[in-house]
Amino acid sequence: MPVLAKAEVDERLSSWLTRTAAIYLVSPDALVAHIGLRTKRIRDLDLDPPADDIARLVVATGVSAARLSQMTFRDAPTSLRGLIDIESRAVCPTCVGEARPRVAPRLREWTYPFTFWCAKHGGRLKSADIDGVRVLCDEASARRGARYWRALAMGADETAPTTAAVMNLLLAPCRSPSPAAPWELAGASPCMRAEQQKEPIRAYPRLALSCVAPEYDSAVAIYDRRLPQEFYGLTTARAVERRAVAIGLGRTIAFPVEAALCILQRCDDFGRRRIEEELAAWPTHLRAAIDRARRCVRSGVAPTPWRRTAADRAPRLTPRSGSDGQLDDFARCLVAEHEASLRHLPVEERLDRLQALAQAELESLRPRVDPGRRGPAGARDRADV
Ligand SMILES: [Zn+2]
Repeated sequence: MPVLAKAEVDERLSSWLTRTAAIYLVSPDALVAHIGLRTKRIRDLDLDPPADDIARLVVATGVSAARLSQMTFRDAPTSLRGLIDIESRAVCPTCVGEARPRVAPRLREWTYPFTFWCAKHGGRLKSADIDGVRVLCDEASARRGARYWRALAMGADETAPTTAAVMNLLLAPCRSPSPAAPWELAGASPCMRAEQQKEPIRAYPRLALSCVAPEYDSAVAIYDRRLPQEFYGLTTARAVERRAVAIGLGRTIAFPVEAALCILQRCDDFGRRRIEEELAAWPTHLRAAIDRARRCVRSGVAPTPWRRTAADRAPRLTPRSGSDGQLDDFARCLVAEHEASLRHLPVEERLDRLQALAQAELESLRPRVDPGRRGPAGARDRADV
């Protein structure tokens, strides 16, 4: 082929061939048939392309076999391969705008469940299914969680507790399944409501994620939640649910004891057994800290476990009344509150956790009702993300 599309950095082989086909005004399937590849579906070339298909592509395009293989997932670590979703439709609008010909390039990076932003432009990736994403606005926790998730996929899960253990905790039920409460059906269509009233009444799982990232409950309606029971199933979960998990991860790894305590306080007997099973995989010193904190809560010494203490002592700020002096007091208050628990950490991680803490506290001080919200999966979300 005399003319080829310019391959983007990290572009998938199927994406590059699709854009090359667009230059010749033919469909990707027609191009594949013309070159004589054995693989019938162009996307299947990305995962494990047969050697003779690569050889034919070398002849047809003049690009080296090594470069073509680089565009596939052939060399991806085993831990990552299980997470690749080759059907992913996520794209970066800015990348699409820059592409020539103007067919959306698809990068290898965008097929991972923990990729929510374009590495080149920093903007959020878009896909056909982004309802509710706007409600999950804790960007700092989402980015931190996505970073841990990536490390887990790359075989470098080195957090304490491990990212895998935190994932399992967040996806575990903290209460026994129960039918939807009336307010959980507030945004449901009449058809869905009628469905809910049929016998037997459907019971929904109640996951620990909702305790750590309560905004998940606003972002995704109860009848629309499809989180799997173990994290490898997250590969094909909806973007909004994966993002909620990333936020939960970011918060729980930054504040493991507070998060565990928060979940345990919302458990029923069924959930407590399950959550304690998951916590058994956590390091001994954290489990000891959780036990101490539970005893304190029971004896009334620390009645406000989930980062409330600092916020309660801090001046009550509103967006208009906060002065610099008050903010300084608030920052000092946060540092004093958490100094002991942060002292053993490297400086970078200490700052990271303090930043997350400050953001979470400021979030909690914001006015309770956001007039822009219209319940789960509103049409406004789609326009803005
Ligand atoms: Zn981009």
